Amino acid sequence: MEEKKVLLDVKNLRTSFFTDAGEVKSVNDVSFHVNEREVVAVVGESGSGKSVTQLSVLQLIQSPPGKIIGGEVWFEGNNLLTYSKKQMCSIRGNGISMIFQEPMTSLNPVYTVGNQLTEVLRAHNKNMSKQEAWKRGVEALAAVGIPDPEERMKNYPFEMSGGMRQRAMIAISVACNSKLIVADEPTTALDVTTQAQVMELLISLVEKKGTSIIVVTHNLGLVTRYADRIYVMYAGRIVESGTTEMLLTNPRHPYTLGLLASVPRLDDNKNEKLVPIEGTPPNLANIPVYCSFYPRCPYACEKCKNEAAPELRPVGETGHFMACHLDVRGGNASA
Ligand code: SF4
Repeated sequence: MEEKKVLLDVKNLRTSFFTDAGEVKSVNDVSFHVNEREVVAVVGESGSGKSVTQLSVLQLIQSPPGKIIGGEVWFEGNNLLTYSKKQMCSIRGNGISMIFQEPMTSLNPVYTVGNQLTEVLRAHNKNMSKQEAWKRGVEALAAVGIPDPEERMKNYPFEMSGGMRQRAMIAISVACNSKLIVADEPTTALDVTTQAQVMELLISLVEKKGTSIIVVTHNLGLVTRYADRIYVMYAGRIVESGTTEMLLTNPRHPYTLGLLASVPRLDDNKNEKLVPIEGTPPNLANIPVYCSFYPRCPYACEKCKNEAAPELRPVGETGHFMACHLDVRGGNASA
């Protein structure tokens, strides 16, 4: 089997926010990687640290109060955490680009989409003429399925639908030939039909352009159909990771089981009742030394409260990891 080449390798990343309430450990010793031409999903509830992890990769954390306090972010052989602001500017767009839930927060409302596309292209390629950038912009809009791209270049963002704006954001990544696109809740603000179209468009870039994609989402159901591998995050840590098939057919962490039971899945035909995860995530300014899922975990036992938080460990097939003192298989827990 052909060995996959690692594109992004994040090691022991730690990011905190220093607030009046204390140190909020949003990203707590997180390691993950993305291979070339791979779709990776990072899944967790709001406040699990999944978005802060990606913002840290791109050094987009607002400082203060935020600070990356440890770790390494290797991209194409370089540790991005040693990069200056100027060096990071050259990585953003050409190397890694990020698209957000609401493109209106990224697109400037007072410039046309064409203006913004050509500006980004010329910022990354100083020798490119305005005409060439315009042509490349039109091609990029066409590539993401925007009809009548010449005319659409002249539109302001408010003249486009939400789905169209998200396509325009993806077009910027396409125009820049980004090797990695980080899509943070890319479809949450869209209706269900448009959600599927935007996801299909993102995934098509893997095949057509060799792009790798990280999809950050609270909706495990959304990504089961598209992701090659999944990282599940809880309270600033990764609690389970593996191929999508491993996590769907043999989930081992109680939180992953809870997520699977609580969301409808596109690949699930059964009319199974959805069961929400009771309780709320812990305060990240006051994370317990024991397992942070303890107060919500249906499998919790004395050991979980008396011992330090479990580390990620291999389980089952190669490439499957989880952080739990027990081993929950098919709903049955064993030590
Ligand atoms: Fe639940 Fe205990 Fe596992 Fe934590 S360590 S997830 S409390 S069973």
